Amino acid sequence: MLEQLSELIGKENILTNEPMSKHTSFHIGGPAGYYIQVRTKEQLIGVLRILQDKGSPYYLIGNGSNLLVGDEGYDGVIVRLTGELAAILGPDEAGYITAGAGAMLSQVAYQAMESGFSGMEFAFGIPGTIGGAIVMNAGAYDGEMRLVVSSVRLLLPDLSEVEKSCEAMELGYRTSILKSKAYEGAIVLSVTLQLQQGNRTAIKAKMDEFSKLRQSKQPLEYPSAGSTFKRPNGHYAGKLIMDAGLQGYRIGDAQVSEKHCGFVINRGNATAAEVRALMQQVEDEVFETTGIELEPEVIFLGNF
Ligand SMILES: Cc1cc2nc3c(=O)[nH]c(=O)nc-3n(C[C@H](O)[C@H](O)[C@H](O)COP(=O)(O)OP(=O)(O)OC[C@H]3O[C@@H](n4cnc5c(N)ncnc54)[C@H](O)[C@@H]3O)c2cc1C
Repeated sequence: MLEQLSELIGKENILTNEPMSKHTSFHIGGPAGYYIQVRTKEQLIGVLRILQDKGSPYYLIGNGSNLLVGDEGYDGVIVRLTGELAAILGPDEAGYITAGAGAMLSQVAYQAMESGFSGMEFAFGIPGTIGGAIVMNAGAYDGEMRLVVSSVRLLLPDLSEVEKSCEAMELGYRTSILKSKAYEGAIVLSVTLQLQQGNRTAIKAKMDEFSKLRQSKQPLEYPSAGSTFKRPNGHYAGKLIMDAGLQGYRIGDAQVSEKHCGFVINRGNATAAEVRALMQQVEDEVFETTGIELEPEVIFLGNF
């Protein structure tokens, strides 16, 4: 299999036994059998064909900013989209901007701002790709992907392509159609956004303001995966965790942030097992004190 993959994408784009701690914002995770980067749609389709033929498990990641990978790693192939699959085109005069799924959200937001188009300010500072942002319907400060997406191009597991409208993507709070069983294994190839003409200086000011807010409220000085839990209806996870007395609570090097209780942080050498144990403890104690069930926003991958 390695030979076939090398022929298709080049040896330099294949890493063997690659620690996933290097590819996740938590800086946690054991080795993936292979970690590969694909640059074109043709390469991606070719790679998936090989992996499917060989029956090899594979998993597509974005920037790894919402993932907790197990300490025993992932027995299979991790695929990352780069090159053409991370290119940003536009915005055109009508405000349409199309980005390959591997493009970083902040870059898309920055490019939109430079051309004087508004709508992506909220996404500046979210450390993920636009592909990951579609899967999660990423959002912040009253903005979310649902409000700016025009259409999404998907590659289905049978390797056929389909273009979906924003409505058909069923974007909801940290969810999308890609989280449903029916779309398991579907890959976002590209995303087209429709933005509004605005004032470049005002857009830039908004982005700067959001960056400052993030710096002051979030523990950006430590590795994390952002908000660890989803916001329960009518509540804030961070407040519930703080009220349960868990601010700063620590298992090994995994800690409930003292700055923002909604974040579990890695104080240095946290393991996935420690993060998982801490998350479980938080869920149990919040449930005991309030009767509210916290649901992880972070996605677990691989062997713990
Ligand atoms: C400091 C910090 C702050 C954050 N702030 C926010 C915030 O304000 N708002 C917010 O919503 N999130 C936030 N996050 C979480 C995270 O950045 C987002 O969920 C982001 O959208 C994840 O993108 P990613 O590319 O890193 O995806 P990953 O973490 O790599 O993957 C997430 C999921 O998407 C899937 N996926 C990724 N790309 C594709 C693709 N092309 N096709 C199919 N599936 C794909 C993966 O398989 C996985 O299931 C924050 C994280 C951190 C570390």
